Amino acid sequence: MRSFDYVIVGAGTAGCVLAARLSADPEVTVLLLEAGTAFPDGDSGWHYRTVPQADADRATLSYPLGKALGGSSRADGLMAGLGDPDSYDAWAEAGATDWTYAALLPFLGAGAASPVGPPVEPLWAATVEAGHHPQADRDALPAGEMLAAIAQRPNLTVLPDAQAVRVVVDRGDCRGVAYHVDGHTGLTCADREVVLATGAIGSPRLLLLSGIGPGADLRANGLPVVADLPGVGSNLQDHPRSQVAYAATGPVPADRAPHMLARTDPDGPQDLHLTFGDRPLHPRHEPGEEDGYSVVFALTRPASRGTVRLRGPDPYAPPLIDPALLADDADVDRMVTGLRMARDLGGAPALSSVRDTEEFPGSGVDSAAVLAQYVRDTVTPCSHPAGTCRMGIDGAAVVDPELRVHAVDGLRVADASVVPSIVTGNTHTATLAVAERAARLISG
Ligand SMILES: Cc1cc2nc3c(=O)[nH]c(=O)nc-3n(C[C@H](O)[C@H](O)[C@H](O)COP(=O)(O)OP(=O)(O)OC[C@H]3O[C@@H](n4cnc5c(N)ncnc54)[C@H](O)[C@@H]3O)c2cc1C
Repeated sequence: MRSFDYVIVGAGTAGCVLAARLSADPEVTVLLLEAGTAFPDGDSGWHYRTVPQADADRATLSYPLGKALGGSSRADGLMAGLGDPDSYDAWAEAGATDWTYAALLPFLGAGAASPVGPPVEPLWAATVEAGHHPQADRDALPAGEMLAAIAQRPNLTVLPDAQAVRVVVDRGDCRGVAYHVDGHTGLTCADREVVLATGAIGSPRLLLLSGIGPGADLRANGLPVVADLPGVGSNLQDHPRSQVAYAATGPVPADRAPHMLARTDPDGPQDLHLTFGDRPLHPRHEPGEEDGYSVVFALTRPASRGTVRLRGPDPYAPPLIDPALLADDADVDRMVTGLRMARDLGGAPALSSVRDTEEFPGSGVDSAAVLAQYVRDTVTPCSHPAGTCRMGIDGAAVVDPELRVHAVDGLRVADASVVPSIVTGNTHTATLAVAERAARLISG
């Protein structure tokens, strides 16, 4: 059995940053384990679905995540909105001592690579007409590029196609990781630490498979209780989204289209993200074939909270993912307001020369009750899972503010799962910042 100073599990957005930073010290050996492949094709990914969504017509919704070197950054749109400072400050207020926007600011620039693109007419003009301050996309760096740049370091071993099945804990000390590769079970030892960067679905899943989680659930799944941590897998958050879709008289290119943040309550904080799509999106975000465009609206401060649970002890069984979309009625009300704002945008005079009809929900549909049903019929998650190994100091927190798993030595989690609440921007940049700070905490 080979041992390394650090074993990082998951080569996604966070795992690649951790590998780059920790292996920068040539005296330190690092293993980076990844379930996905080094050379992904169009079909690679975790093709998850949610459990039936009680408040969205009991639909089971697609929940794609990246499974490759680079993780979800291989699949994501790489829009690099930072989010509002107060959505980071909320972490410290929830018990994540010193995880404020100011403390994270040095790490938040890292994910934004390219400058803003040129304004796209007529979408840009429609945005101004509807009273918004448009912003252009910034591209984020895919995490795999960072890994490619360091792959030759002699002290870094990258092992793709290796799925971790549990962390090995002996009398409260995490010693290493068991994984499956090429039909065999491998075991690797960590002389210093194991760091989980398997994402907000993968990290609670791996902790649960290792017997770290709510005791009663573990026993019900036939797993031993290594550490009774009730918060593992709770507090799942994602940005719920829907759209207003229009048929058009010709193609409406939305590349580099503006996007904008807005308030569903004029006296409240920004809580809505609006963006254009270059296809008319049918219910559940399915692109239509006809010419047209969409205005997608997503809640950036959802009140609903869901869970990640196991189906049983089989490490290959997909987890039970319940983002509990629209479980909180306040989210439905704000989505209806968001829909009306999306409509103002999509129906703006600047688009009258290309706009044909409002296909979904349809221009005649205006009552709040019918629009609320439309939102329930069309809502989808953004594949921005967060919060399932929450950082804090209370009894339900999973990791402490230095990202160490409570009640287990030598084990940290450093990915999108540790944030107490989802940021109001895109989650890639926030995850990069978590990983950068984690690397500092780990290496001292
Ligand atoms: C389709 C899609 C679109 C997105 N669009 C955007 C966007 O436009 N802007 C934005 O900011 N964010 C976007 N995101 C979200 C963003 O990609 C994530 O917030 C971010 O990548 C989370 O990083 P992470 O390191 O926590 O997890 P991930 O990047 O998902 O990395 C987790 C890694 O762990 C691996 N893994 C999991 N379990 C195991 C195991 N048992 N053993 C070994 N390896 C394992 C996975 O294969 C994966 O490589 C999008 C995500 C998706 C899926």
